[in-house]
Amino acid sequence: MKNISIALDGPAGAGKSTIAKIIAKHKNLTYIDTGAMYRAIALKILREGIDVDQEKSIQDVLGVSNIDLEGNDIFLDEHLVTEEIRTPKVNNFVSHVAKIPLVRMKMVELQRNIAANKNVIMDGRDIGTFVIPNATYKFYLTASIEERARRRFIELKDKGFDTTFEIVKEEIKNRDKMDTEREFAPLRKAEDAIEIDTTGKSIQDVVAEILHCLK
Ligand code: C5P
Repeated sequence: MKNISIALDGPAGAGKSTIAKIIAKHKNLTYIDTGAMYRAIALKILREGIDVDQEKSIQDVLGVSNIDLEGNDIFLDEHLVTEEIRTPKVNNFVSHVAKIPLVRMKMVELQRNIAANKNVIMDGRDIGTFVIPNATYKFYLTASIEERARRRFIELKDKGFDTTFEIVKEEIKNRDKMDTEREFAPLRKAEDAIEIDTTGKSIQDVVAEILHCLK
């Protein structure tokens, strides 16, 4: 039987990971958080103090780094980094790293390997357009910038970070801009993706909408 694959793309804060985890449970799919992978490699590059235009150093780091997803956790070189990849420092840095073609090629290779011969739901920016262009189902989640910033602001406040709504909104705007304007595999809705605007909708509403399409 052919494996099922679901691509879930969209900008930061559109609700992708929350929704993907629930759909994965419902449909018994492996959830692959591709953003977490870019965040993990960005964390390593940050820690090593490497500049994003030092191509050789980036290549070396990619060659010796181990990124593993286990359930909803992520490990960088066998150390759990699930929390550390979501700090404002990584938020501000990750898109600079994600636009480097070398980095993307490596992450996409990893993502395709993890997905091989499995039923998966993968969330990210380029899943329906580049990583699995022949996915069984493709969705593109959006929401207004105000709502996306509000969700992220609440998340960060709950985790104890000292920030403001305006700072979070600016960070998301900058990330959206970098993700949509990069040359290689930018954030874009696949032509055959179903677009869902999650503004003002509950998580349950969006899950129901997606489940309905999967029938
Ligand atoms: O999904 P999340 O917000 O955790 O993604 C963090 C960043 O990783 C994005 O802003 C983007 O720069 C990068 N990313 C990407 N391609 C993906 C997933 C994430 O470029 N498939």
